[in-house]
Amino acid sequence: MSSDDDPATRSPTTLDPQDWDAFRARAHAMLERALDKMETATEGRAWTPVPDDLKRTLEARLPSDGTSADKVDARLSRLLPHGVGNTHPRFFGWVHGSGTPNGIIAEMVAAAMNANAGGRDHAAIYVERQLVGWVKALFGFPDAASGLVVSGTSAATIIALKVARDRALGAAAREVGLAGAPLVAYASEQAHSCVARALDLLGIGKDALRRIPTGADFRMRPSALRQAISEDRAAGLQPFAIVGSAGTVNTGAIDPLEVLAEISRGEQLWFHVDGAFGACGMLSKTLAPKLAGISAADSLAFDFHKWLHVNYDAGFVLVRDGALHRAAFSDRPDYLKGVERGLAAGNPWPVEYGPELSRGFRALKIWAQLMEHGPDKLGAAISENCEQAKQLAALVDAHPALEQMAPVETSICCFRFKPEVLVDDVDALNEEIVIRLQESGLAAPSTTRLGGELCIRVNITNHRTRRSDLSLLVDAVVETGGAIAAEKPSSG
Ligand SMILES: *Cc1c(COP(=O)(O)O)cnc(C)c1O
Repeated sequence: MSSDDDPATRSPTTLDPQDWDAFRARAHAMLERALDKMETATEGRAWTPVPDDLKRTLEARLPSDGTSADKVDARLSRLLPHGVGNTHPRFFGWVHGSGTPNGIIAEMVAAAMNANAGGRDHAAIYVERQLVGWVKALFGFPDAASGLVVSGTSAATIIALKVARDRALGAAAREVGLAGAPLVAYASEQAHSCVARALDLLGIGKDALRRIPTGADFRMRPSALRQAISEDRAAGLQPFAIVGSAGTVNTGAIDPLEVLAEISRGEQLWFHVDGAFGACGMLSKTLAPKLAGISAADSLAFDFHKWLHVNYDAGFVLVRDGALHRAAFSDRPDYLKGVERGLAAGNPWPVEYGPELSRGFRALKIWAQLMEHGPDKLGAAISENCEQAKQLAALVDAHPALEQMAPVETSICCFRFKPEVLVDDVDALNEEIVIRLQESGLAAPSTTRLGGELCIRVNITNHRTRRSDLSLLVDAVVETGGAIAAEKPSSG
């Protein structure tokens, strides 16, 4: 037996560095690279596609004997330029927050603590609890409300609608499931797909989501909602929840939340608000009045990683009736039993409010962001983005080749390029404009369809965007659109 194999003489396996000085130098060097990335966020390309040779290295098999630290760090560094681009001032796609450098600091602390925030008595639990208190106050929820940090609004929606389901069916639903109960819920036809997905995951099924028509302003029509509820009741179905959107993903429209809250009360239905990005508008003097109805909701799902720029990922679910929320998730088997003293104290535990037991210390970066920048400055940045979306709409209106496709209510402006020359397919033309802009690295808008027509969709939830970025974008759209139209003249 060689000494390497002899358990008596072999040095124990450790994953810690052998040479801490060398490790510190290595960590500092990587921190510098991370900071470089953030400091130069306003420069260069909006999106830099992953090069083929890098993709190939990411298909290689895992070496069984590890890789030198230098090599690992070189590999890590190579990834840095190839993010989705949302730290750049001209990233306008989907709804992404733009992140902050201070987020790196909180993430370092969280990584060093390596805390499991599912429960037990330690600092992370108290940080998250304080954060929950701040969120309750922000949205005008009572002390008895509860909240949980989650990955994002998709996860938050599943949790909120689970509480709604259990309220409708009673506690037995946790044991017997739906047992054939014909539950149905309501959201506008503009609602995010995560609502239907939550119904799918809860065993209720996507078909149980009634998609209520919207008006020309893309807000849910209350009369259509009332009618759908009474038709469903007449058909023997069991309505249980209304979902309002505080900022739709397509156009940024805000449903008439106060009216929806009133209908929910009258019909004794759960009122959930999807405020993924829009709810944080509560910090903005411009938007807060439009969001007043949120404080009447039974539950709210929203993201800190969007309009509050906490580095990904950071979502939140808030529930008015904390006892109901806890009853929908709490299971405390013997090995998770809470006590008054010792490490198993600190009750209630976050695991009692959601499906995850082990969970990271996401709350810290959120807490640090709110502490450092404060609600006033964060809200002012939101107001500026709303102003910029209006400025963009004005630039669009002023240009004969551009047509605005939806009113600007929050951060989103949708428009279309209409060439002077006849082209066969204006949808394809606009899609090609967006792809070319992304590939050029100049800007990264995305697309959507409104009234069946493909639009260029620009969302500004970005504290780095300046007015000059908007004129650059408009000029590039017009120039690119003109070039494509010239390449592909009409066949007719
Ligand atoms: C982004 C978004 C979601 C989904 O949120 P995630 O954090 O991506 O899970 C839901 N609804 C709206 C309106 C959104 O903008």
